[in-house]
Amino acid sequence: MPSQSSMQQVMIVTGGSRGIGAAIARLGAAAGYAVCISYLSNREAAAAVVDSITVQGSRAMAVQADVAREQDVVRLFGEVDAAFGPLTALVNNAGILELQARVEDMDAARISRVFATNVTGSFICAREAVRRMSTRHGGSGGAIVNLSSRAARLGAPGEYVDYAASKAAIDTLTIGLAKEVAAEGIRVNAVSPGVIHTEIHASGGEPGRVERVKDAVPMKRGGYPEEVARAVLWLLSDDASYTTGATIDVSGGR
Ligand code: NAP
Repeated sequence: MPSQSSMQQVMIVTGGSRGIGAAIARLGAAAGYAVCISYLSNREAAAAVVDSITVQGSRAMAVQADVAREQDVVRLFGEVDAAFGPLTALVNNAGILELQARVEDMDAARISRVFATNVTGSFICAREAVRRMSTRHGGSGGAIVNLSSRAARLGAPGEYVDYAASKAAIDTLTIGLAKEVAAEGIRVNAVSPGVIHTEIHASGGEPGRVERVKDAVPMKRGGYPEEVARAVLWLLSDDASYTTGATIDVSGGR
């Protein structure tokens, strides 16, 4: 069975300064990856995640890079090449939603912002990863995990149908790219969280959203970032060596 375990493992986690991305970065470092987190603006939070990893003796760095800006993404990957060497894992985690609204009240600028970060950002990061990992380009393979959402199937009516639609696009990116690069040493999978205790709900205007909706979850509670991170790390690992194009729900039931 082909294995990458003898190589230095190098991971980029977009949006790793807070929430699910920070948990993935910490767990990835504990699993032996050199980890680069990217962030949008919260420099202190990013530095705290890096410090929490380096204090354990692992390698970590943070790069400010807006995934919605192609030149930022190109710079991010270049900085990782220089600092850590060949990339072996990408987690497309950076994602946003906007204030809860009905579709009839959404303007084009809002919808474009959500899609630029969640969809275009994930595509461009995946592009940079494939250019480095694919055996077609002289790479040694790797793994990509995309953060989808249960919202992709539920639709998020009255809250953020635009966000839900952007995550449906992530599901299709996962299926299509997985097939495109399956014979080139790259596995592409997704994790689909339900309601997780992070600050993303505050950016939708309802910091207490998890508590409000938790009774609709079969397990009757919200999830924690570490519970999502464990699924991501499994998909990245050699334990998932025959898994590609898959989506794992981490949602307390469906
Ligand atoms: P969060 O707590 O709001 O954290 C978002 C992270 O993304 C932060 O590190 C933020 O950086 C970064 N970010 C935002 N826009 C960015 C951009 N344009 N470029 C680079 N980084 C950017 O989010 P979360 O709840 O952990 O969500 C992580 C992922 O899981 C997202 O894709 C989200 O859609 C998905 N998800 C979350 C839930 C949930 O209930 N929490 C459920 C399903 C799916 P700064 O710190 O600099 O702002």
